[in-house]
Amino acid sequence: MTNYNCLECQKEVPFETVKKRVRCPYCGSKILYKPKITQTVVDAV
Ligand SMILES: [Zn+2]
Repeated sequence: MTNYNCLECQKEVPFETVKKRVRCPYCGSKILYKPKITQTVVDAV
């Protein structure tokens, strides 16, 4: 299960919440990102 982070308030938003409504439950921001899956495969090509 992947959790998201809110770009605005930096709080962790559970995937279940994002699945229902793509919006931060804390501040209402719609900009969420995955914190950990960034540094994986940047090596190809
Ligand atoms: Zn937020």
